[in-house]
Amino acid sequence: MVIYKDQLKKLLEFRERAREHLVVSLYLNVTPPRPFLSELRSLLHARRVQLHEHAHENDLPKAEIRAVEELFDRIEARVEEIERGLERTRLLVIFADPEGFWQEYRLPVALPSRLVVEPDPYVRPLTVLLDEFDRYCVVVTDARKARLFSLYLGDFEEHPDVFVEDDVPDRVSASRSVTRAAGSGVWGGLGDLRVQRHIEDHVHRHLKRVADLAFRFYQETGFDRLILGGPEDKVLPWLKDHLHSYLQQRLAGEFHARPEWNEAKLKELALEVAQRWERRCEEELIERLLEQAKPGGKGVLGLEPTLEALMLGQVHTLVVQNEFRAQGTLCRNDHYLSTYLEKCPLCDGEMEPVEDLVDEMVEEAIAQGAEVEHVFTDHEGFTEHGVGALLRFTL
Ligand SMILES: [Zn+2]
Repeated sequence: MVIYKDQLKKLLEFRERAREHLVVSLYLNVTPPRPFLSELRSLLHARRVQLHEHAHENDLPKAEIRAVEELFDRIEARVEEIERGLERTRLLVIFADPEGFWQEYRLPVALPSRLVVEPDPYVRPLTVLLDEFDRYCVVVTDARKARLFSLYLGDFEEHPDVFVEDDVPDRVSASRSVTRAAGSGVWGGLGDLRVQRHIEDHVHRHLKRVADLAFRFYQETGFDRLILGGPEDKVLPWLKDHLHSYLQQRLAGEFHARPEWNEAKLKELALEVAQRWERRCEEELIERLLEQAKPGGKGVLGLEPTLEALMLGQVHTLVVQNEFRAQGTLCRNDHYLSTYLEKCPLCDGEMEPVEDLVDEMVEEAIAQGAEVEHVFTDHEGFTEHGVGALLRFTL
């Protein structure tokens, strides 16, 4: 199971540590039908040649070069091994060092393939992309039991340590204890109502505990959104009343289920809620973009205007339809991008053709410190443009 929060924390801690060895950072665009294995091999080969050529000027000891080359072999073997398991992935990210540090990430959004060998891991593109996706906490409860899950990038993981089973009386045992508490049967016709209240008290206590556990989980993990599952009765409305206001503000939706249902079914229902929520967030973003793209507003739509704004450093948020592709050209010297230019206007060098100009634009936006938002479903008024941007300023 992959919940990247802890992994990312380790990566950032690793980055802070002083190291004696080089770190390899691989961003591999595995969007089908790319021949990504052969792309990887040529990236590794080119870097091998460079390492040897520049060994002297960089003062690299032979043993260090050998260690990095061994890492290259392990990375190649690893990608061969998982090649067939990457259908839902568009970007594979690996960080590794000769002392045994190794991390992998799989993302549903792409960047250009890139291999970086430096004293530090090349972390920023990964953190920007991961930030785009909400981390959900999913609480499934009934009147007695509760289970808690994390949902992130399609991975659904249970946290069994926060499983709750409270001793809520059923009608018969409650009736007995209420009768005992009341002395003898003096309450006559009121008995039923009292029994019901007694049970409800227990249910409220249980739900209060569930709400507290969810809040503690929030303080520990800092999830973005909360999804609730429960039976079609009073349980969910009551649970919502008990939730901390922070969590009430983070509610993304709810579904009907029972805690004893199997994990696959619960995952399916939680995913539906998450997708509805994400779709709504996308709609709000697109609405804002279309509004700003009107004359006098701070927004642009379409490949050419967006690229122009990006090259001028105007972009605040780059918005990309995840399936949108466009060919273009690129100057390797200064990462100048164009849809058609053959000569770079900055350095007068040759521009080389690129298959995925949009991926290059995402990379450039990240390098400029802009935000990136990928849009996964069709939206009227935006899909035909494929790309757009909210701007910091207009010229
Ligand atoms: Zn140039």
